[in-house]
Amino acid sequence: AEGGNRYALADPDSDARAISRHHLTHHLPAALKGCEFFIEYQPLVKMEDGSIEGAEALVRWSHPRHGVLGPDRFIPLAEHTGLIVPLGRWVLEEAVRQACQWQVRGIGGARPLKINVNLSPRQLHHPELVTDTIAVLEEAGLEPSSLCLEVTETAMIKADENELRPLRELAEYGVGIALDDFGTGYSNLANLRRLPADTLKLDRSFTQGLQRDPADPVDLKIVEGIVSLAHTLQLSVTVEGVETSAQAEQLRELGCDSAQGWFYARPGPPERLPEAV
Ligand code: C2E
Ligand code: CA
Ligand code: CA
Ligand code: CA
Repeated sequence: AEGGNRYALADPDSDARAISRHHLTHHLPAALKGCEFFIEYQPLVKMEDGSIEGAEALVRWSHPRHGVLGPDRFIPLAEHTGLIVPLGRWVLEEAVRQACQWQVRGIGGARPLKINVNLSPRQLHHPELVTDTIAVLEEAGLEPSSLCLEVTETAMIKADENELRPLRELAEYGVGIALDDFGTGYSNLANLRRLPADTLKLDRSFTQGLQRDPADPVDLKIVEGIVSLAHTLQLSVTVEGVETSAQAEQLRELGCDSAQGWFYARPGPPERLPEAV
């Protein structure tokens, strides 16, 4: 009833809807100080051979009274209050540290494992984004090319040239930039050329459209068209929300480069990633 992307509560006694936004907003700063946030990692898989090329960091809040809350419950509140800036920085530091650990242990084989981190619009506007990000990478000793920042298509198309500049600078420094939830933001397709992205993450809604057997030929054509346009613009395509082997096979045939979804692995604790490799 609440829509997709929801996280089940660990405490069955508490009713998710009963926790007010006000209550959560009020407790966010203390939660950050008290280390109540943690990160789950979901593998990103290369479609060509099924190998793991990286992972997306997804933040959760382990609320002392209400159990585990998914990001859809608190990221919008943190955006609103501005707490997303320190929270986002914590996620970046933690995820980069984790990626270094994986790389040092040689997980992922010859190619160094990459880490994807989500960036909120509010973080885009923060004057220290570029220096902070570079500082985090340098301190950890992670190659810039091992980090990919995910910015939603909606946030990216709303951004003017000033707001895109930090992303451009980071891209020049070597950091990957992904256009997240692509297909939900009504981009002017010609506009894609001016964005500093190197990867397009096709929204889960497209993957769902391929669920029927046989898949709707029009849905297939749409995905095929997006993939071909992306490749023309030298963007690599990652598909989200792959839940079945049939979807995976179809998306591979349509030319998608990488995939993410429950079919491969659900988001989980960092210890579980090496097992998925
Ligand atoms: P997103 O960036 O689109 O992340 C993908 C979401 O899809 C995740 O939800 C993931 O658990 C879910 N998912 C992955 N595979 C499947 C699948 O096969 N089927 C289905 N039905 N769902 C799948 P999650 O973890 O609840 O995150 C929701 C959103 O919260 C993310 O959407 C992202 O926009 C935001 N978010 C998460 N962590 C952060 C963060 O550290 N900072 C910021 N700013 N936003 C974050
Ligand atoms: Ca994302
Ligand atoms: Ca997404
Ligand atoms: Ca999404």
